[in-house]
Amino acid sequence: MPCLQRDYSKWNDLLAPEVFQLLPRLSLGRSLFDVLGDYFKDEKLKLAFTFQAKYLGMSPWECPGAFAIIPFNEHNFGIYYIKGGLNEISQAMGKVVQEEGGKIHTSTPAKKIISSNGKVQGIELEDGSRVEADKVIINADFAYAMNELMEPGTLRKYSPEKIARKKFSCSTFMLYLGLDKEYEFNHHNIIFARDYKNNVENIFKNFRLTDDMSVYIQNPTINDPTLAPQGHSALYILVPIANRQATVNWDEKQVKEYRGKVLETIKNKTRLKDIEEHIVVEKSINPLNWEEDYNVYRGATFNLGHNLSQLLYFRPRNRFEELENCFLAGGRHQSRQWIAHYL
Ligand SMILES: Cc1cc2nc3c(=O)[nH]c(=O)nc-3n(C[C@H](O)[C@H](O)[C@H](O)COP(=O)(O)OP(=O)(O)OC[C@H]3O[C@@H](n4cnc5c(N)ncnc54)[C@H](O)[C@@H]3O)c2cc1C
Repeated sequence: MPCLQRDYSKWNDLLAPEVFQLLPRLSLGRSLFDVLGDYFKDEKLKLAFTFQAKYLGMSPWECPGAFAIIPFNEHNFGIYYIKGGLNEISQAMGKVVQEEGGKIHTSTPAKKIISSNGKVQGIELEDGSRVEADKVIINADFAYAMNELMEPGTLRKYSPEKIARKKFSCSTFMLYLGLDKEYEFNHHNIIFARDYKNNVENIFKNFRLTDDMSVYIQNPTINDPTLAPQGHSALYILVPIANRQATVNWDEKQVKEYRGKVLETIKNKTRLKDIEEHIVVEKSINPLNWEEDYNVYRGATFNLGHNLSQLLYFRPRNRFEELENCFLAGGRHQSRQWIAHYL
């Protein structure tokens, strides 16, 4: 805990005595897969406990061993679920802001962050209007914000060339289904690819889309009937796939074909044999949608990779070194916060 709770904004923070003491336990140089070998002999069991590396958008053979903290936390403390879904948190936070007299503008994209002499002055909106501000907090995807919202030349540390050289996480193909049927099916379900190592290599190294996929299926209506009308259910299907470094043309034909393969995999490997006949509404999101519609750089939904060279001191700070009154917030900027988010 002392290590997770400390600040790593200076390089010598990594030399603090409590960080040093922890070194033997950080499994430096070992991957998550290696570390799980200390606990499980069976290959399949090891793999079952590495799935959490996908939360980091990483391969378990590359993910730093210290992240074994995540499967441990999930199994030791369990998982909490918010009734009504995660959006309820944003709604509740919005309510607090409004109660305090704040005003929230949705569907109001920011086009540029205006700065001069190393200080932020405010933002320019998509419609050209300007909003002056004492402080600006950026919650959009980090690499997108650096490339698209910052005036070129504002930040030397995060120039487009430097960002392009960084490692990014994987992407996802999503299917959100509304079904006119309820299934006796767990809340959380994971289907592993037949050859999981090959599946992971195709995502992270070869940047290839293949038919042997891993799938996460969430059936939240089993615990939360507020999500669908009586007798109906809502399924969330996530397939980890390569980010936009893969040369996949996500046109209508490709989306239709891949959707078919995902449903086929589910039908073959679970008891949801008839889901296709019960779909009432559906929405899909592919890497191109993540990039173009949700402003996620390379469609890398889990943001910058969590390899050691991009963690702690080496990860972007919440406070910019080269820009005053401008802050980064959000899930994927500081790994320490990110771990805390899981704790
Ligand atoms: C498919 C998927 C599954 C996930 N599963 C989990 C999970 O099981 N557990 C978990 O803990 N985390 C999970 N995550 C990660 C989690 O969703 C993120 O860590 C979290 O949403 C990050 O929150 P955020 O506020 O930083 O960013 P976001 O929730 O991405 O919010 C960024 C906001 O900025 C807005 N924005 C972008 N550009 C502009 C602009 N120009 N102007 C104005 N607004 C803009 C966007 O519209 C968006 O509302 C998952 C993510 C994905 C994509």
